[in-house]
Amino acid sequence: MTRARYTKATLPAKPCVACGRPMTWRKRWAKTWDEVKFCSAACRKRVRRA
Ligand SMILES: [Zn+2]
Repeated sequence: MTRARYTKATLPAKPCVACGRPMTWRKRWAKTWDEVKFCSAACRKRVRRA
């Protein structure tokens, strides 16, 4: 199990590629964090259209 890597003190973060806002790691992204690029569905749509 690699779950223990993400503790409150070491939450990873990265900017949304659409709006540039920093995204902090969320539990729902636990499995897909490396693939997460957008902070929200709205941002995803924005980039897709561009
Ligand atoms: Zn965004």
